[in-house]
Amino acid sequence: MMKDVYNHIVETIGNTPLVRLNKITKDFPCEVYAKVEYFNPGNSIKDRIALQLIEDAEKSGRLKPGDTIVECTSGNTGMGLALVAIAKGYKCVFTLADKMSREKVDILRAMGAEVHVCPTDVEPDDPRSYYSVAARIAKERNGWNPDQYNNLSNRQAHYLSTGPEIWRQTEGRITHYIASTGTGGTLVGTGMYLKEQNPEVQIIGIDPAGSILKHWFDTHEVKPELARVYAVEGMGEDFIPDNYDRNFIDHMETIDDKESLLMCRRLAKEEGLFCGSSAGAAVQGLVQLKNRFKPTDVVVVILHDHGSRYIGKIYNDDWMKEKGFL
Ligand code: PMP
Repeated sequence: MMKDVYNHIVETIGNTPLVRLNKITKDFPCEVYAKVEYFNPGNSIKDRIALQLIEDAEKSGRLKPGDTIVECTSGNTGMGLALVAIAKGYKCVFTLADKMSREKVDILRAMGAEVHVCPTDVEPDDPRSYYSVAARIAKERNGWNPDQYNNLSNRQAHYLSTGPEIWRQTEGRITHYIASTGTGGTLVGTGMYLKEQNPEVQIIGIDPAGSILKHWFDTHEVKPELARVYAVEGMGEDFIPDNYDRNFIDHMETIDDKESLLMCRRLAKEEGLFCGSSAGAAVQGLVQLKNRFKPTDVVVVILHDHGSRYIGKIYNDDWMKEKGFL
């Protein structure tokens, strides 16, 4: 028998490494580990949910061979869906907001998907928004819209994979779990599993200034009018997706664009971890929370995706200067 051999690339989803942070956390009292999700075959954590969304839809009979999958995505879910679609023979149509990096659009097209780029600065219910365009195309083509925001298969993927992996890798020693949050799947699904093992584990979401998630968590109010555009990608929302459940969240921390993007550069130079903006945001949030930790704590922070998708932005001095981040 050959060992460590797979029948298809989708079989390599999950089981990502947990890697200790050394330099950025050198004056922390405790151990801090990064769950490096760019080791997934689509280079992001969202491969996990793509597989769960599709397999749950197949089981329920909603998705049948030859069907078209239509989704609004910041790119990573699209990449995951495209990979799983190739394995299982589905067509993919994706809608993206125009603030997303050019690389993400090109990558999805390379994976055989049809991509529609939509304006960022319109309300979610505007017919031009990437939510509305995806809904319209799904209707026109009798396609299946996985709706990663409100489909609970999203958080279930993390309940079934990300959570158990972290629990096993830390041998149950984890005390704090930190993740940038958008749909809420990564934060809440993993949080549900970890709190089931040990209710004391602190579940901490990282939210960009300009998102309404922290305000909702702190006040119970949903205020879309507080939303404004920010630079970090794939995180923050201007509504509250169904994947959220405040019972599994202990704290939400706000981060700013500039500190987060500069933290991405530090992660690359100081730790050798070449990541996307939400990873810089998560580690910036971690640093802001340093005083909460004690010597026996074991902190795990999620690094959602790889830096290759942001070369023209975070890792480009001209773009960083033009935006006032350098
Ligand atoms: N970071 C990146 C790069 C992402 O693509 C996403 C997914 N939108 C997130 C963070 C947030 O994860 P979640 O949607 O599970 O909350």
